Amino acid sequence: MSDPLHLVLVGGGHAMLPSLAHAREWTDAGVKVTLVDPQRWLYYSGMVPEHLGGVYAVDDIRVDLRRLAREAGATHVADRATALDPEARMVTTAEGDTIPYDVLAIDVGGVNPALPDAAVGTKPIYRVRALRPHLKQVLDAPTETLGLTIVGGGAAGVEVALNITGRFAGAGRAADLSLTIVEQSGKILPGFPEGMRAYAARLLRERGATIRTATTVDEVHGSDEGRAQVDMRTDSGEHDTIHPDAVLWSTGAVAPPLLRESGLSTDGRGFLHVTRRLRTPTHPRIFAAGDCGTIPELDLDKVGVHAVKQGPDLRANLDTTVRRLAGDGSAPAASDLTVFRPYPVAPLLLSTGTRRAIWTAGPLWTARTWSLRLKHWVDRRWIQRYAPERWGRVGWRSLVGAEAASNPDGTE
Ligand SMILES: Cc1cc2nc3c(=O)[nH]c(=O)nc-3n(C[C@H](O)[C@H](O)[C@H](O)COP(=O)(O)OP(=O)(O)OC[C@H]3O[C@@H](n4cnc5c(N)ncnc54)[C@H](O)[C@@H]3O)c2cc1C
Repeated sequence: MSDPLHLVLVGGGHAMLPSLAHAREWTDAGVKVTLVDPQRWLYYSGMVPEHLGGVYAVDDIRVDLRRLAREAGATHVADRATALDPEARMVTTAEGDTIPYDVLAIDVGGVNPALPDAAVGTKPIYRVRALRPHLKQVLDAPTETLGLTIVGGGAAGVEVALNITGRFAGAGRAADLSLTIVEQSGKILPGFPEGMRAYAARLLRERGATIRTATTVDEVHGSDEGRAQVDMRTDSGEHDTIHPDAVLWSTGAVAPPLLRESGLSTDGRGFLHVTRRLRTPTHPRIFAAGDCGTIPELDLDKVGVHAVKQGPDLRANLDTTVRRLAGDGSAPAASDLTVFRPYPVAPLLLSTGTRRAIWTAGPLWTARTWSLRLKHWVDRRWIQRYAPERWGRVGWRSLVGAEAASNPDGTE
């Protein structure tokens, strides 16, 4: 064991924030804590679509990982982990640093599979911000137009589309936006209630968006004129090419390669196997939470709702492990750790670029103003814990008027 005990946090994602925010308890007790994450900011995924929709300014939706680490007495290594060696208990970074650990927690999220160079990715979520300049340039200039293709008609792609179309419609510029959603399966929002799918599709079409289902994008190229070339093919074999100004690649998640390359047990997409204690089954000092971990018996969707719910359990189990190692030098038994209990049905709130949000859980759904208020309250309450300098205290009172934009002009 190194001296002092070293807790290394790789990836400051949604599931890691409770651990990082409470790391002062560990550093005060003499534990060395290091966060490895190339990004300074974590963008809260629940608020990103409304940021693109002009509801939130950038400072509303992001958490300063560097500040959290500093305030906790932890070190922030602003670099990407490229290798994990569970036997040597070592993390290697892109810059070539080697960081030994006694306890390791991993929350690196997922990456977009086969992300073309000419497209904007959605994972990690900070990438989505690259759409902002396109939107701003067009909205600031009454004569400009925007062609935007969103590849992937799941919840993330559709919520972004609803917010962007809502923003253009709200500015009286619907005709200046040519937005196309391309979805491989036969309908957008696969897996969601039929009525909800029809509702979202109607809103999008009313605002001039095109929805192409049963269509696969084969390739995206950049071109000299600054436009992209999107080659696609329908299930019935017809080929088509469009030339949007920007392409958002919102096609689900696979694991970053370093997880599979670590030799730890992974699932078919490369995500780390963990038990319901968020611990790897073979290495009692290695934990993983959020999208990068898979609990085989639960088979949860890779969504932030689960990552956020796992956060406090991860912190509790790291705490137990650190205390035990600092005490008798042994890792705790599984029975001493907190068991993660997911929501029986994961609720989802999708903003729509209107004064209503869609609330859905299992087969149920509705679209109301109360659900937009609820969404804003839930989102603001969550981020307030980690960005109090921006949000102050968010109480029940903030529900009143919470359906309104905090950034109606869409400024940065
Ligand atoms: C547009 C959009 C909207 C969404 N909205 C919702 C929603 O409303 N509700 C919901 O439940 N889910 C939503 N999701 C899904 C949600 O974003 C993810 O499930 C969630 O972010 C996963 O959190 P995480 O803790 O696993 O990791 P993330 O929050 O993805 O964080 C991963 C962190 O790891 C860092 N990292 C990555 N690789 C490395 C490395 N090699 N070394 C060190 N650090 C690394 C990254 O910089 C990042 O800080 C949305 C997704 C998108 C794209």
